[in-house]
Parts: sequence; C-alpha cells; structure tokens
Amino acid sequence: MEDKQMLMIPGPTPVPERVLLAMAKCPTGHRSGEFSKIMAEVTAKLQWLHQTKNDVLILTVSGTGAMEAGIINFLNKGDRVLVGNNGKFGERWAQMSRVFGLNVTEIKAESGKPLDTEAFRAELEADTQKHIKAVIITHSETSTGVLNDLPTINSYVKAHGESLIIVDAVTSLGAINIPVDEWGLDIVASGSQKGYMIPPGLGFVCVSPKAWEAYKTATLPRFYLDLEPYRKSASKDTTPFTPPVNLIFALQAALQMMEREGLENIFARHQRLTQAIRAGIKALGLPLFAPDHAASTAVTSVIPTQIDAEEIRSTMKKRYDIAIAGGQDELKGKIFRIGHLGFVCDRDILAAISALDGTLHALGYEGADYGAGVAATAKIL
Ligand SMILES: *Cc1c(COP(=O)(O)O)cnc(C)c1O
Repeated sequence: MEDKQMLMIPGPTPVPERVLLAMAKCPTGHRSGEFSKIMAEVTAKLQWLHQTKNDVLILTVSGTGAMEAGIINFLNKGDRVLVGNNGKFGERWAQMSRVFGLNVTEIKAESGKPLDTEAFRAELEADTQKHIKAVIITHSETSTGVLNDLPTINSYVKAHGESLIIVDAVTSLGAINIPVDEWGLDIVASGSQKGYMIPPGLGFVCVSPKAWEAYKTATLPRFYLDLEPYRKSASKDTTPFTPPVNLIFALQAALQMMEREGLENIFARHQRLTQAIRAGIKALGLPLFAPDHAASTAVTSVIPTQIDAEEIRSTMKKRYDIAIAGGQDELKGKIFRIGHLGFVCDRDILAAISALDGTLHALGYEGADYGAGVAATAKIL
C-alpha cells in the first residue's frame, strides 16, 4: 500500500506530523527578528535537552560533521588520544582522528561487546606525564546496539584531570540520560535524524569551558566548522552562515514536544520499549547481539538462527512495509537491527514484533510458537 511505510531503523527516525507541518512553511530570512526569536528558543531548549549550561551549537551537517567539529577545534596534530572502538562508529572516530594526524591508541572490544572500562583506567593511570589529550568514545554504538559505560570511563578521565572527554551521543541523546554538566562531558556530538525526531541535516556540538580553553591553542585547519563563529553568533541569537531555516522550524516544534513529554518520561519510554522488544525477541527464540547489561535504548540487534538476516529484512519490507536495518560491513547478513528511538511508542513495538513473528513463520522458522513474541512484548508494555 502506498504511503504506509513504517521506519524502524536507527536513523533517520519517524518524524511527527506536527514537525513536518512546521517545516512546510515559506522560509523566513535568517537575519530577521522573527528568526532570532526562534534561535533563542531552540538554543535554550537544546541546553535543557543536554542538561547543561554549556554552549550547544547548531551546524548544518550530518552527525559525522558534528563529530569532526569536535576533533578539529580542540586538538592538535600529534596529540595522543584514546579511542574506544567496538563497532563501526568507534572505527569512524579512529579513522577521523588519524586523518587529522592525532596519535591514536585504540581500545578495542569485540563486536557486540561493550568497551572494557578497565582498559581505559589502566591507560589513563599509566599516563603520569599527562600526554593523553582526549578520550574519544561512542556512547551508543549503533552498528551493534551496544551501550558503552560512559559514566565509568568518564570517571577515569576525571581522575586523570587533563584529558578531555569527547562523546558521540548521536543515538543516545534523547534516548537515555546524559546529564552533561553533572558528568562534566567536554564535547558531545549529536545529529537531528536520531533522537530529535526531525529529518537529517542538523548536527549539534555541546562544548564545555574546558574544551574552549583547549580551543585557544588548537591549530588544526578549519573554516566552515570553526566553532568560535558559531558561539559568537549564538550569543546574538543568530548563525554565522545561512542555516537550513525550515529544519530549525522543525527543531523548534520537536523540542517543544520533548519539553512537554519531559526528560524523565522520554528516558523511561525508551527504557520500557527496549525491554519490551528484547523480551519479544527472546520469546521468539532469537539471540540478541548486545548483552542485557549493555543494551542500547535506541537500537536492538538480533542474530537470527535458521534464517538469513537479509531475508528477514526483505520479507518484513515486502509483507509489512516495515523498514529495519541490516548489519554493516562484516555483520551484513549476520544480524538485523530494529531502531526504536525518537518518535516511537508501544504500538510501534507491538507492530514490529508481530510482523517479525509473521515474517519468521512465513520463512519456515520453527524456533517458537506463532504469537510467542507478541505475548512477551505485551506483557511488559
Ligand atoms: C547515525 C550515527 C552517526 C552519524 O552518522 P551521519 O550519517 O553522519 O549522520 C554517528 N554516530 C552514531 C553512533 C550514529 O548512530
């Protein structure tokens, strides 16, 4: 059926009608008083969302652009950095850091497992000369559905004292509690098409005073992503370059919805949906890729038995018009991933699990009785 697609991938995520309608307006001039008012409102609400008094700057980039801004503004060629790598996005941090000439020590974990916090502690404690300039990690590793233990790793960074903590929060911001000020996170990158409930096109970087200190001596080349002009402009409720005005309208509408729901409720909803989907998949007899104690609240990865992951994915699409994600790189065909962040509710989870159940049985799966998944999911919801 036309126009009945349901998006259950970890970004882009579904967009509420209210947000879509906010975008369907003639753009205003970005130097107008009217637009400045909107900028002031979204900037304040972004700080609310990040639970911070730090600057939260809006860039016209995808999430990766926000990550890049987080590197080039605060570090120098040759700087020693520790990069956590347990999946595709951790790998991206490592690649990016090398491109900019940083001296990278990777702390790796097997795909599907969380980063070993002790490895960070050991490296940071051994660094008595304080050569480590930054610890760079992905909070929710979207490629595997693993949530890394940011609070613990960050506590070792704080004990070290000198190092910055740089976080890819692209699929954790708005899906799980990240109190930026309470934890003292220096740089937090995120993107609009994930927990924000708006289409792709905006990146966000949250910058601490300690990071701004590092900015003063950072010499990597930068122009469009030089954050100082963004800070200066934001303090006057404007932007250095032409922003995607209609996406800012969307951001305004989405942040208003988030504020009405409340942070606690947003986090609790993601937690509940995650538990419900995991219970459903377990009841279907399928192994989960990420362990319960390190489960992302944004995306759940499944290693199907008996049936190929790509076959499940294409059948879900064909029979039910539900888009789920596959595995990336070496995980292609081995896992599938169900996104459940942003504008997602109980009904979506019930629909996804029952469609998965139908898909598996249509493909001859014999690992569970028909309906077992829905029963377990419904029980939690
Ligand atoms: C989506 C995502 C990104 C950003 O990807 P873009 O395609 O550049 O928006 C970065 N990190 C994680 C963990 C993601 O899920």
